[in-house]
Amino acid sequence: MSKRNLNRRQRWRIEKIQAERVARSQKRQAELDADVASELGDAQPGLVTAHYGRKVEISGTDGVRQRCHFRANLEQLVVGDQVLWQPAKGPGDGVVTAIVPRTSVLKRPDNYGKLKPVAANVDLMLIVFAPAPTPSSQLLDRYLVAAELSGIRPALVLNKADLITDDNRAALTALCDIYRKLDYPVIEASATDTGTAHAAGLATLSAALDGHTSVFVGQSGVGKSSLVNALLPDADIATNVLSDVSGLGQHTTTTAQLLHLPAGGDLIDSPGIREFGLWHIGEEELLSGYVDLAPLAGHCRFRNCSHRHEPGCALIEAAESGAISQERLDNFFRIADTLDEDARQRYE
Ligand code: GDP
Ligand code: ZN
Repeated sequence: MSKRNLNRRQRWRIEKIQAERVARSQKRQAELDADVASELGDAQPGLVTAHYGRKVEISGTDGVRQRCHFRANLEQLVVGDQVLWQPAKGPGDGVVTAIVPRTSVLKRPDNYGKLKPVAANVDLMLIVFAPAPTPSSQLLDRYLVAAELSGIRPALVLNKADLITDDNRAALTALCDIYRKLDYPVIEASATDTGTAHAAGLATLSAALDGHTSVFVGQSGVGKSSLVNALLPDADIATNVLSDVSGLGQHTTTTAQLLHLPAGGDLIDSPGIREFGLWHIGEEELLSGYVDLAPLAGHCRFRNCSHRHEPGCALIEAAESGAISQERLDNFFRIADTLDEDARQRYE
């Protein structure tokens, strides 16, 4: 039998299997459609505001939220997805029929270490740090690289500005300067002390969020929950309302939710998103997320330069001349050295 024949036969088999799959999924869809007792309204744009396993909550253009099935042939929907959907006219569920291509996807590993999307169309990542717990540029770098690699614009938020004292001011200023020099915005704010001295910080943050879909990330204890509460005084109430509407009660607290901010902009929040980090990357990818180091890497004398000890290394020379931050370069090495370790830990 010629190779060509075999290929044709294989192709035929594959087509047959695919046809069977389509038929099965159409059958499932027909069953789903039959489930939808009430009539459906016209297709319209909507936004996924929460996700509960087999169903999603959709916010329509009129702001009304409704629980929906989704078509079996759709890829996995996540909070932040823009969709086309048909609302239920009666008390039943609506149906999501199509998904608009995403501009960005936040992923994190599931229990098996496989990367899964958790939020879509996020365009601003607020990396929160504070005078306490003591911040580290290495941790901030990890978040910044993660944002850059996800195609999401990062901004730093120095929360607990009320805890800045003569003792920690110099170190915090030096830390912020590293990032200001790289044109990363640094917003000083206080989530809990909203007196006149710090009120401007929250207002600046609020304005920065307007027009964007944002996430808060950062170490535990830096004040992410407090900031969300300060920006969204009715957050708890909003969460309860969501639970009632969805009829799914307390599950809402663990899954990602999209919240509309009163001063404009959307916030996607969940415990998993707040722990967002660097996953499944190699050293080269890490370097490409360092906006200051990456452009230099092509200028080393040796093409396979490790940037650690070679003569004519553009990175080492730039750090020595002060053109780039030695601290950033050191962080890059330290993070690179832990990449394998991270991967091992994830699978244990
Ligand atoms: P998260 O783990 O990042 O969500 O941090 P939380 O919002 O739970 O805050 C951790 C602790 O820091 C809590 O005791 C907050 O009251 C406190 N906190 C949060 N924001 C501020 C702030 O702006 N100033 C001060 N002094 N304490 C804050
Ligand atoms: Zn080099």
